[in-house]
Amino acid sequence: MRQLAAKNDCGGGGQGAQFSGPPVLPSQNPLITIIGGGLAGSEAAWQAARRGVKVRLLEMKPHKYSPAHASPLLGELVCSNSLRSEALESAVGLLKEEMRRLGSLVLAAAEATRVPAGKSLAVDREHFAAYLTQALEQEALVEIVRDEVTGLTPDQLTIVATGPLTSEPLAQALGTITGQQHLHFYDAIAPIVYAESLDMSKIFRASRYGAGEDYLNCPFTEVEYAHFYEALMQAEQVPLKSFEKPRYFEGCLPIEIMAARGYRTLTFGPLKPVGLMDPQTGEQPFAVAQLRAENREGTLFNMVGFQTKLTYPEQQRIFRLIPGLENAEFARLGSIHRNTFIRSPGLLSPYLNFYNHPNIFLAGQISGVEGYVESSAMGLLAGINAARRAQGLPLLTPPPTTAHGALIAHLTNTATRDFQPMNVNFGLFPALPGRVPKKQRGAAYAKRALKDMTSWVKEMLEEEPGT
Ligand SMILES: Cc1cc2nc3c(=O)[nH]c(=O)nc-3n(C[C@H](O)[C@H](O)[C@H](O)COP(=O)(O)OP(=O)(O)OC[C@H]3O[C@@H](n4cnc5c(N)ncnc54)[C@H](O)[C@@H]3O)c2cc1C
Repeated sequence: MRQLAAKNDCGGGGQGAQFSGPPVLPSQNPLITIIGGGLAGSEAAWQAARRGVKVRLLEMKPHKYSPAHASPLLGELVCSNSLRSEALESAVGLLKEEMRRLGSLVLAAAEATRVPAGKSLAVDREHFAAYLTQALEQEALVEIVRDEVTGLTPDQLTIVATGPLTSEPLAQALGTITGQQHLHFYDAIAPIVYAESLDMSKIFRASRYGAGEDYLNCPFTEVEYAHFYEALMQAEQVPLKSFEKPRYFEGCLPIEIMAARGYRTLTFGPLKPVGLMDPQTGEQPFAVAQLRAENREGTLFNMVGFQTKLTYPEQQRIFRLIPGLENAEFARLGSIHRNTFIRSPGLLSPYLNFYNHPNIFLAGQISGVEGYVESSAMGLLAGINAARRAQGLPLLTPPPTTAHGALIAHLTNTATRDFQPMNVNFGLFPALPGRVPKKQRGAAYAKRALKDMTSWVKEMLEEEPGT
């Protein structure tokens, strides 16, 4: 299906209007191929077209559907209809505000189709996808082609935005250009906690057998372990989707599956205490949960071996039974689900193109972010940069103090040991200068981010032709 129609007046309202420059004839423009018409691909197409660059957007629906997609429309939300919090003091609320300032089509569509949801931005999913689809169909510089892409041409300017359920042939093609070891098909995500929420009067620093102090260790008595084990065994799990057959690797089994093998199994696995002495008792604890630093600043800690299919409320209830985690706040909760993504650090530049194939950009969940808003945000940046490459302009990356920049920092952080997709959270941001009271921190991150984002957008627009 080919569609080249009149310039649209639908998604370009509000903040998006800042990019409506004079129309440029498609034949005079360079061409970007965008593969995947989900949230990221749609946003990328819009951003590139707003910059006067011709786009071909290839979407395999309706000829072929992933196991989670069902609508022929672009920008389909496959599960929840919520784009999460609107509060500026939350990292995802801030990310949305930055996207508004960057003229996001996804945000314009969400605002036009919102349904009441308290402090969250939730949408009528049918109207949302219809709005996005119509905006792109009416955009003269976007040609929508309904076809599955099965290979990549490294010298062609391309954005790959095929999402967590990328079709098999294209996933293989990506594996070929990245090296198969960088292509992942499952998330096995352990929760991450904020360091400041830990009770360090119970937790001790040590590596096994006195080999340093790299880990935070949460020591269990036998009574505490028994209580934790019993709660874990009775906890509610997320039901598996029909296409998510439990094909777990032995090396990253969900903690509850491992626990179900026997009362002591965890104490020989992720909770093993050997080589660890609790300085408070001078003895080896009955069991130990270990936390490993997730970032250089030491503000986030990963719960080692705690990948899980428990529901989010159950994770919070049960993991707070771990000594030292009674008041833990979670930057990310655990999950295991099917998800095609690239291990981006070392492969992707901060402009979202591959170091060794600079014409190929990644956008959306496949780049290693998690969530509707984060995927759209990476589509937005990839769209801007692919357009700039087409126009011979230098590529850009947002300041690290912004929510967009914090996500880019996650994708390019080569110090990450076990890279997994992430939602945006303040733990990814550079620390605030000085001591800011906890309750004021979200607002302080937001104030700094929006100031820096405003300057960045201004500089970018001054440089771009026709914006
Ligand atoms: C089952 C499931 C439930 C989820 N629930 C949530 C949730 O509730 N909240 C949340 O924030 N996030 C959720 N996510 C994550 C969510 O999918 C992503 O955050 C978001 O949709 C990713 O956007 P994207 O544009 O990267 O990919 P998608 O939105 O999946 O878009 C990718 C598009 O590419 C197309 N495509 C794939 N392969 C090809 C090909 N070879 N050629 C052409 N087209 C192709 C697909 O048909 C699809 O339209 C969920 C993910 C899954 C798998």
